[in-house]
Amino acid sequence: MEPAHTQPVVYAPMWMDGGGYQDKCPIDPRVRVHTPYECRCRPQRALFSTNTEFSQHIKNKYHRDWIQNYHRTVCEDLELLNVENKGLKREMAILYGKLEKGELRWSRDVAEHVRLESSLKHANRQLSEKIESLESRILSLVEDNVILRVQQDTVHEKKYSDLQEKFDAFVEKHQTDTLEHARVQEELKRVIATQRETMDQLKKVLTQ
Ligand SMILES: [Zn+2]
Repeated sequence: MEPAHTQPVVYAPMWMDGGGYQDKCPIDPRVRVHTPYECRCRPQRALFSTNTEFSQHIKNKYHRDWIQNYHRTVCEDLELLNVENKGLKREMAILYGKLEKGELRWSRDVAEHVRLESSLKHANRQLSEKIESLESRILSLVEDNVILRVQQDTVHEKKYSDLQEKFDAFVEKHQTDTLEHARVQEELKRVIATQRETMDQLKKVLTQ
């Protein structure tokens, strides 16, 4: 009987030197507990685990037909396997081809990536240099601007003080002129008064 935990081993006949396959009991009579064997000579499961069971099994008609056709079946199976193998080899060749193409594309991509990275670094460096140069120009312009403003302030101050001086001179002259004008006016009034007096005296003399 098959122990619950043991999977049966699939039975296969032996290839004999004389040619052809023959039944040979796989069970060692010296071993007390035997591994069960399964023979696939017919659709129903056929198991044996003793020499006696084996001897009985190989006598049945299914099994004898199976043994007779075994070589042909093996050859057919081999042929099928060969066909399958060829198909698999073809598929493998196609896959290897794809793999090679993929590797080639990958290495091209890596090269392109390296090239782009290097050109990006170069562009970055140039940009940094330009920024530095611009910053230095801005600094220099700011300094120039400060100097110009100082110069402008100096010029303005100078102009202002010149104007102030001119204004002061003008005011002074105006004051002098006003005083002179007042003096002349006084003089004129005095002359007119004298003339009036003289005229009055002349009128008096004439009317006497
Ligand atoms: Zn069988």
